[in-house]
Amino acid sequence: MTLGRRQFLKAGGTCVAGASALALGFAPPKAYAGDSRQYKLLRAKETRNNCTYCSVGCGILMYSLGDGAKNAKPSIFHIEGDPDHPVSRGSLCPKGAGLVDFIHSETRLQYPEYRAPGAKEWKRISWDEATDRIARLLKDDRDKNFIERNEKGELVNRWLSSGMLASSAASNETGVLDFKFARSLGMLGLDCQARLCHAPTVAALAPSFGRGAMTNNWVDIKNANVVLIMGGNPAEAHPVGFKWVMEAKIRNGAKVLVVDPRFNRSAAVADFYAPIRAGSDAAFMLGVINYLLSHDKIQHDYVKAYTNAALIVREDFAFEDGLFTGYDVEKRKYDKSSWTYERDEKGFARQDPTLQNPRCVINLLRKHVERYTPEMVTQLSGTPVKDFLYVCETLASTSAPDLTSTFLFALGWTHHTNGAQVIRSAAMVQMLLGNIGMAGGGMNALRGHSNIQGFTDLGLLSLRLPGYLNLPSDKQQDMATYLKETTPAADVPGQVNYYHNTPKFFVSLMKTLWGEHATAANNWGYDWLPKWDASYDMLAYFDRMYQGKVNGYIAQGFNPLAAMPDKNKTAVALSKLKFLVSIDPLSTETASFWKNEGQFNNVKTEDIQTEVFRLPASCFAEENGSIVNSGRWLQWHFAGAEPPGEAWHDSRIIGTIYSKVRDLYRKEGGVCPEPVLNMQWNYKDAEDPTPEEIARECNGTALADITDDQGHIVVPKGHQLPDFSVMKDDGTTASFCWIFAGSWTDAGNQMARRDNTDTGLGNTPGWAWAWPANRRLLYNRASMDPNGRPWDPKRQILEWDGKRWSGSDVPDYPPTSPPGSGVGPFIMLSEGLGRLFACDKMVDGPFPEQYEPTETPLVNNPLHPKVTHNPTARVLKDDRARMGDQKDFPYVATTYSITELFRHWTKHSRLNAIAQPEQFIEIGEKLAGRLNIAAGDMVKVSSKRGYIEAKAVVTKRVRTLTVMGRELDQIGVPCHWGFEGATRKGYLANTLSPAVGDANTQTPEFKAFLVNVEKV
Ligand code: SF4
Repeated sequence: MTLGRRQFLKAGGTCVAGASALALGFAPPKAYAGDSRQYKLLRAKETRNNCTYCSVGCGILMYSLGDGAKNAKPSIFHIEGDPDHPVSRGSLCPKGAGLVDFIHSETRLQYPEYRAPGAKEWKRISWDEATDRIARLLKDDRDKNFIERNEKGELVNRWLSSGMLASSAASNETGVLDFKFARSLGMLGLDCQARLCHAPTVAALAPSFGRGAMTNNWVDIKNANVVLIMGGNPAEAHPVGFKWVMEAKIRNGAKVLVVDPRFNRSAAVADFYAPIRAGSDAAFMLGVINYLLSHDKIQHDYVKAYTNAALIVREDFAFEDGLFTGYDVEKRKYDKSSWTYERDEKGFARQDPTLQNPRCVINLLRKHVERYTPEMVTQLSGTPVKDFLYVCETLASTSAPDLTSTFLFALGWTHHTNGAQVIRSAAMVQMLLGNIGMAGGGMNALRGHSNIQGFTDLGLLSLRLPGYLNLPSDKQQDMATYLKETTPAADVPGQVNYYHNTPKFFVSLMKTLWGEHATAANNWGYDWLPKWDASYDMLAYFDRMYQGKVNGYIAQGFNPLAAMPDKNKTAVALSKLKFLVSIDPLSTETASFWKNEGQFNNVKTEDIQTEVFRLPASCFAEENGSIVNSGRWLQWHFAGAEPPGEAWHDSRIIGTIYSKVRDLYRKEGGVCPEPVLNMQWNYKDAEDPTPEEIARECNGTALADITDDQGHIVVPKGHQLPDFSVMKDDGTTASFCWIFAGSWTDAGNQMARRDNTDTGLGNTPGWAWAWPANRRLLYNRASMDPNGRPWDPKRQILEWDGKRWSGSDVPDYPPTSPPGSGVGPFIMLSEGLGRLFACDKMVDGPFPEQYEPTETPLVNNPLHPKVTHNPTARVLKDDRARMGDQKDFPYVATTYSITELFRHWTKHSRLNAIAQPEQFIEIGEKLAGRLNIAAGDMVKVSSKRGYIEAKAVVTKRVRTLTVMGRELDQIGVPCHWGFEGATRKGYLANTLSPAVGDANTQTPEFKAFLVNVEKV
């Protein structure tokens, strides 16, 4: 039998980590002595991995030399796209093409280093010295500052004076260790990159549909009839994922619409481009909703059957002059008790299927958006009326049941003080059009970093637990209260309301955390979880640092000096730390924040008394593990080489520090040692846990025989859980992250599967593994009418065979609930229906509203002049004085990413540094002409918080807009350069942006703030 290359890999199954080129049939039939040099891949080992940058998660093949002989270390010398990968199909963008240079970057760290207080240089130290000292510092700070009880005497077990940032490119398995480490110590200042990117997506999509993730997947974009790209620029930020937009355009005749402040590269290949003022997206989308409702362009059957349009809202709910009912001016918070439905005597929501009742959600929505006329949208956004109407009409065409539009968005929507509400408004448009659950439809949140989806899933955020459970607050003093308050009751009878299983997921988590120490008698160790009194998100925590209330901080694979807003404030905050631990493969600006880099980082080194540890970590190419792409696929990757020099894997670094802290507690005792010592850490080598054992633990196991309702054993004791449906709340199952259950079963590592067979509409369920339950298209039951007939026969995903649902994807529905059963397709929500009215699930309103950015170019908000900004956006005291206004700073700045560079990582890679060596600012021709700036001139861009200087790139891509009757200019600020790496030194762009965040999530407002521009 002869096997082709793909067939060979499939035949190799999941256990093949690498294969030599010889085995792949590249070897010539005979050797030709004296011929030209041998093809160098012939002697190489091929190892599968994924690109470490963005969440397209492109497949890569890494080639290394080193035959395993003594003293021969493998070294990766070539990387190319994996042709078998269903999304990338062999492609890599300029970032992925430079991965070899990232691995071998001159700024890769080789050994641990230490910077003493006031010192001007790094000093090399041993791992023992570093980890002993860090463990000592952590324990001393914890013992001194740990809070067992709050002022009311309630048990809170929290530690606020040290915190941690978890990486967004490390594997899930590292994330599991991070969580166990930080939470057992009582840290609340735990956060990850999601805070700085897609947290508003989760906050918007979860209340709308039940889950906060991208609804469809990259390949599915090809099925769309209309693609709206707004709040994102995938041609540059996700270039390989963008190929599926082109596929939709070329093969499906899709119309591609781009709405963006800049005529970007996505716009360059779109069918239609409309400009918009940064910060007015909510007005635009609410205008679309108004258009759809007033022109009767909605998918009526879908809206009636699958959304809460017919549910009746309480009489006392209202919206007036920019505020919803219940606003407390002092607290800048809402009392949300009226934001709910009228109830019947059983507590279920009242409804009017005829939609005649004026208090029906759809009628309140109609009233709410009627202010957003095309003229008002144009006044606010600067988008010409005809452009706005063209977008409306094109989207409206997909209200036909057999046509779909897909929405692609990213940080252009999240980075606003009302970011979550912008996304909510778009989610509502998609519900009105009947596009959720449909192939070629959906709300496709294009995640940024390669594993930020995974770290979000694992709950590495201040107030979260794994699997989107909440960390208990100090008001939830006992487990019963916590479970009662976090387990939703059904709002409509007969619905799945899957979160009613919350106690099973929670107790299974607790059994993973505390092992045999978690018993029914001690509420499964509930008291050992830290209890919060406030959010310790990054903005709040760095503000505490700025006030001198934080002593220790760990930045793992994270560069907050470059990533946080208001760099100058962040630098002051870091200088108030007693110790900082940077765990990273690369030299980051954060680790070197104490170094004077002249204009780029003008600090007084000798005055900075922070001890700094710089610990070298492995990178993606040197580890096994899983990462989650934007489409929720957990993809397993393999190490192709050892970490360089003395660098360690992240798991070994965390494992060693944690083991040393625990040893200190064992030897010396200390404050509240129980959670630290009771944390289950039963890895073969406690100092160096393996990814495989952590991945199995993350999936979960049966701690006793698990039986079904009839008493039949469904999972014998000691076996891996096949999925989350078998979980129990009696302590007989353990699972770290319930949504990952099924990823490593008795059948093995499902994340490493490589069958790329298309089962229909581009679904490849045999490739890797997707949460939840290997579903590729969320809410897919909504692709059919209540009686099970597909809205569009060409897009049929599921079929009812008389007994069960099956099809090209895993049904997102009870498999045996028959057509016509009345069970709604949004199974995670208590109504079973998509929410046009979000009830009390958002902090700033059940309907979205246009609020101005904190720094707005408008005098006030013409919709409600007394409530210009989001009334619930938190502006911390120290930051209020750091906000500018339009008199001093007349231009709107918006940050963005470019094709060749990824955040602040690729500047370390030579190839990418050559491609984009120097910082620039993008200015429109008209503004440049007014300011006498020519292309290549140096310009100074300043905000209330500081300034940067960079070359001007003068383009036609940024237009002067007319907003509220006057001309307004915007400038583009790409954010990739700094004072470390292989590019020319530059300013950190975040010097300019304000430290204020989205009201629901505190994700910073990087996309719209005020600046001035001058020629230098
Ligand atoms: S950066 Fe994104 S699109 Fe580019 S190669 Fe990497 S994963 Fe693919």
